[in-house]
Amino acid sequence: MRIALFDNYRIGIINGTTIRDVTNVVDKRWHGTPYVINELIAHWDELKSAVEAYVRTADEYPLAEVRLLPPIPRPGQLLAAPANYHAHVAEMTTSRYAPTSPQALQSPREVGFFVKASGSVSGPADPIELPPMPGRAFHHEVELGVVIGKTARGVSRERVRDHIFGYLCLLDITLRTEGKRQEERTMRKSFESFTPIGPFILTADEVADHASIGLKLWVNDELRQEANTRNLSVGIDELIEQASHVVTLQPGDIYATGTPEGVGPIEAGDVVRAEVDGMGELLLPVVERKW
Ligand code: MN
Repeated sequence: MRIALFDNYRIGIINGTTIRDVTNVVDKRWHGTPYVINELIAHWDELKSAVEAYVRTADEYPLAEVRLLPPIPRPGQLLAAPANYHAHVAEMTTSRYAPTSPQALQSPREVGFFVKASGSVSGPADPIELPPMPGRAFHHEVELGVVIGKTARGVSRERVRDHIFGYLCLLDITLRTEGKRQEERTMRKSFESFTPIGPFILTADEVADHASIGLKLWVNDELRQEANTRNLSVGIDELIEQASHVVTLQPGDIYATGTPEGVGPIEAGDVVRAEVDGMGELLLPVVERKW
């Protein structure tokens, strides 16, 4: 199923070029709030069959006539893997923005995950807003995002898939600085609009093998990143196992699994397009932030 959020926090099931409103399967007190989707995910076992039944007669709209929101506007936790594709690590080692910290290019197996502010999440057509910070560059990173379904605490990697609700296309926009005076990674990746997600969540039952998913990113129609999750240094099962031994993962949490090679700068006026196999496309204008 392709589950999206639209207009005034309506839950929609996308089928081709239409979307059907199934918000009513979730308790009314969550309607009109961004948490309606967290609630659906948390109670998916009980609600899935209700969604499947309700969607047949639900109000239907052309996809082009609704405004798609980030499918999970308020993930409780937004975790991310650093340096998780070998070719990306190689390109960063020789980059002018090469990190000076000795941990920075080690794999998540060695150094674990980092955290992005949940407030950095934005929607599938929302502009990426670059803050006015002279001398800094802003890089695109396309990634597969994993959406947690069932609470995960101390989960072994063999059981991880039982805790995954679905997947989505995600960008991890990153401020980069040359030299030693680099800002905290958390802040560099947490500016508002620096985590575009969507346009929908693809439920896990439609993904045969999450270790074989292609992803691509273009800037102004020029292909910049193209890779497959089979090239991840540390696979998804191990990433989630590790994170679940650090902190309990909750329904609606998102784990960004790392970016492949080809990262590069974006500037106001650019258009960024990204797609993950079967998970639709983000289409994002880049603008200067106006305070
Ligand atoms: Mn990243």
